[in-house]
Amino acid sequence: MSNNPLKINIDDLRLLPQQRLNVSFKESVDGLDAVKPVSGEFTVSAGATGIKLNGQVQTLLKLTCHRCLQPYFLSLNVPIDEHFQVWTPQADDLRRERELTAGDFIEHLSEDGTLDIVDVVYQAVTLATPVTCLCGDDCPGPAFPSNEARRGSLAGDKEGRDRADRIDPRWKNLKTLFPKDETD
Ligand SMILES: [Zn+2]
Repeated sequence: MSNNPLKINIDDLRLLPQQRLNVSFKESVDGLDAVKPVSGEFTVSAGATGIKLNGQVQTLLKLTCHRCLQPYFLSLNVPIDEHFQVWTPQADDLRRERELTAGDFIEHLSEDGTLDIVDVVYQAVTLATPVTCLCGDDCPGPAFPSNEARRGSLAGDKEGRDRADRIDPRWKNLKTLFPKDETD
C-alpha cells in the first residue's frame, strides 16, 4: 500500500481480501470554509471497472449570511457514493460521448490508478455548500445601510407612481390621435 492512506491505488486494493478497505477520515481540507476537520468513514472497494467509494463526512462551516452579512455556522453531513473508472487513453473521448448522451458525469482514477480521497471530500463538501447563504429563519435582515437604501427606493417607487400618473393623460391624448375606427 502507498504511504498515504488517503491515496488508494486500485492495484493495491485488488490484493486485499474482498478487495475492499474501510477508511477513517479526519483531515483539515484546504480551500473549504470549515472551522474543524472534516471527518467520516468510507468503504473503498475495487470492481472490474474501477473503484467505488461509499460513505459520509461531517464538518462545520463558517459562512457569511448574504442577507444580514453576519457570520454563521452550518453543520453539514455529506453522503458520498461515487464510482471512479480506471483511466485509459480513450477514456476522455468515451467520457465526453457518454456525458453528451447520458448527461451524467463520469469520474476517473488518475493515470496510475490512484484515488485521492481528500480531493473527493473537497469536491463533495464544496458541492454541498449552499450557493445562497442564509443564517436562518430568524435572520434579522439587511443591516442599517441596506434598510436606508430600501426606504430610499420605496420613496423612489412613489415618485415613479406620481410620474406615471402625470404621464397617463398624455397617453390618453395620444390615443385620441389614433381613434380606433381609423386603425381598422
Ligand atoms: Zn442573516
